[in-house]
Amino acid sequence: EIKTVDDNYFGSYSSFGIHREMLGDKVRTDAYRDALLGNPSLVNGATLLDVGCGTGILSLFAAKAGASKVVAVDGSAKMSSVATQVAKINGLLYDENTKVEQNRSPHVISVVHTKAEELNHKIQIPPNGFDVLVSEWMGYCLLYESMLSSVIYARDHFLKPGGAILPDTATILGAGFGKGGTSLPFWENVYGFDMSCIGKEVTGSSARFPLVDILPSQDIVTDTAVLHSFDLASMKESDMDFTSSLELGLSGSDAAVPGVTWCYGIVLWFDTGFTDRFCKDKPVVLSTSPFSTPTHWSQTIFTFEEPIAMTHDESVDDSSASVGTAECPAVTVRSRISIVRASEHRSIDISIETTGI
Ligand code: SAH
Repeated sequence: EIKTVDDNYFGSYSSFGIHREMLGDKVRTDAYRDALLGNPSLVNGATLLDVGCGTGILSLFAAKAGASKVVAVDGSAKMSSVATQVAKINGLLYDENTKVEQNRSPHVISVVHTKAEELNHKIQIPPNGFDVLVSEWMGYCLLYESMLSSVIYARDHFLKPGGAILPDTATILGAGFGKGGTSLPFWENVYGFDMSCIGKEVTGSSARFPLVDILPSQDIVTDTAVLHSFDLASMKESDMDFTSSLELGLSGSDAAVPGVTWCYGIVLWFDTGFTDRFCKDKPVVLSTSPFSTPTHWSQTIFTFEEPIAMTHDESVDDSSASVGTAECPAVTVRSRISIVRASEHRSIDISIETTGI
């Protein structure tokens, strides 16, 4: 049997460890719970499509919130069978027999084993489309291994015109960090021995491959800026590939420190919004910022090949030195960042060009 990329992808979601990690990520799961249970004017009585249902948690919330019909879809055979069992033992699985007797039956969830893109081959889509589409599609750095294109496809084919998509916004943000955000301090003093040669090698290679890890907020030395925003209700699939710029000055507290602050790299993270466009009763934000409670997405850390010297002081005197050095520190770090889907399915290529100005 030949395995396709998708077989491997859905196979990786069949192990329960990853679902345990997602369900146990309280920031993540609370955000979806709050959006679904906190917005009765949207969810109560609505038809809802759960794209990539996994264990079915989002469908369970929707059923509990009084949705009239929930279709939970997963491309993994294992997970769709698990979601069916879970909905059943919680008394929420759709059942031909109980349907007619009870007008407000809680048995509203149907689980369908299919790629979201092929749903119409498996079931009858409601005449005008679903009222609400919910999905937890986000990957590391928002777009890594992302199933966003499947969500966009489902939105365009199975959601009613003007229907709600949850979440409805996604924003990638970034900031610059100091030496403490790298492993250099660790390698500089290992039981009193200097192993900084290893530290240099490690940070050199993380210039090629970003690190997914928690970046302590006290290591951030610049202000925060938005790299790119997506409107999930209207974006096209091709919008997933973009180039944008981050312009970062020293943060307020560091600006008060005279002299030079070294910026060792850039950390990216994302927020998704369940905004009052659709969640009128209770808007919710799911943030993976280093300034908020950590999530299983952590942050994505890019180390520069050489650190950039920064200052808050605009008066630059030595014009012969290049900007961003100790002699001529930069006031702003400007990074041009492009994120494009790689030819290798579901991975992304990120390029970052940074200059001190
Ligand atoms: N909604 C669940 C699981 C999220 S993980 C939760 O919030 O906990 C994403 C799930 O989507 C995985 O179970 C994966 O198998 C499924 N998935 C990814 N792409 C899909 C696609 N195109 N069609 C159907 N399911 C998909």
